[in-house]
Amino acid sequence: MKNVTVLGSTGSIGVSALDVIEKNSDRFRVVALAAGKNIKLLQRQIEKFRPRIAAVGDAKLAGELRKQLPKKFATRIVYDRGGLNEVASFHAADIVVSAISGAAGLLPTLTAIEAGKDIALANKETMVMAGDIVTKKAEEKKIKILPVDSEHSAIFQCLQGQAQESIRRIILTASGGPFWKYKAGDLKKVTLQQTLKHPNWKMGRKITVDSASMMNKGLEVIEAKWLFQLDFGKIDVLIHPQSIVHSLVEFVDGSVLAQMGIPDMRTPIAYALTYPERIINYLPFLDLRSAGSLHFHKPDIKRFPCLEIAYEAGIAGGTMPAVLNAANEIAVEAFLKEKVKFLDLPRIIDKVLHNHLSVKAPSLEDILHADNWAREKAKEQLERI
Ligand code: NDP
Repeated sequence: MKNVTVLGSTGSIGVSALDVIEKNSDRFRVVALAAGKNIKLLQRQIEKFRPRIAAVGDAKLAGELRKQLPKKFATRIVYDRGGLNEVASFHAADIVVSAISGAAGLLPTLTAIEAGKDIALANKETMVMAGDIVTKKAEEKKIKILPVDSEHSAIFQCLQGQAQESIRRIILTASGGPFWKYKAGDLKKVTLQQTLKHPNWKMGRKITVDSASMMNKGLEVIEAKWLFQLDFGKIDVLIHPQSIVHSLVEFVDGSVLAQMGIPDMRTPIAYALTYPERIINYLPFLDLRSAGSLHFHKPDIKRFPCLEIAYEAGIAGGTMPAVLNAANEIAVEAFLKEKVKFLDLPRIIDKVLHNHLSVKAPSLEDILHADNWAREKAKEQLERI
């Protein structure tokens, strides 16, 4: 039995993780959950999985949730940052699924690592903002960081049993999102509704917008740098609209290994939870006969500049990636409220990055400070639009 904590249990990844856990209840037990505001869903999850502790965003939500739960339930309800940290470090857990969205996922993930828990990492922002600190802390605590992001899981799977020196490059695949066939002029007019219609994956709203702008791939490039300890020159991106090849590794002898499967996050989630074992996943198997042709294309950074902006921020290093992430979060939030247009996203982010004086080898405080600074600067940019 593996004891699991799920941070972000009410989100797209959180719900998929709980589905994997439920279908494998002989292997996993949920000991702790954390959500933000969706107490209705959290209540149902508590009733089903009976965790020992659960966190919500604030005291009011915690009070409401306590009232709704049957008296016989022993789940302790906590709240705020303190409560979230209590859940992240809950003593009984063996592994913590880190699936809060955005920068809010960084501190609880670090808390879980500090407490010696293995991490099934979906929250890519953790690595983007503080990859150096997080990977060093994981090494010091001798814990494993197991990728959940499908591309990173694919690479992780291809690298099993391979020497680091044998990697020539890794290739992250990207679906290209809903607009990869659009002409530059047409991108001016795209709506929020069109942006939220991802062709292959069903995900949270923020990451769906990031997929459409290709910022998601940019963040993944930086995530891959830290997860696999590679220079940016060894990390490539290919558009693969079918989302069947989840990523590839090219080795020095010219061999290329790819990991394929249907686009369903429950596969990489299950692998992260059971690594190095594989389990039956109760999902449809990939049928290559009906999948049709698989296509690969070079990304177009003219139409989708976010990818290049992210590479630049990653290569610059220091606090630049944290600034990239924060500016993107503010810009996407404004786009989700229909306050800015799709093509404003790279403009806002680029402006903020250009105004930032990066701190080299930043401490956690430097990173959090840069994150705050970038949010303020991005808001200033929003006012100018
Ligand atoms: P969602 O928006 O669907 O879910 C986010 C989750 O985080 C919800 O449970 C939400 O709670 C919780 N949350 C948000 N802010 C806070 C906070 N301040 N404190 C506590 N909980 C909070 O996101 P996704 O599941 O799509 O994505 C989660 C992470 O996984 C992201 O980092 C994303 O990049 C990554 N990822 C997602 C993939 C996907 O397929 N969805 C694929 C690969 C990576 P509530 O709703 O209750 O407010």
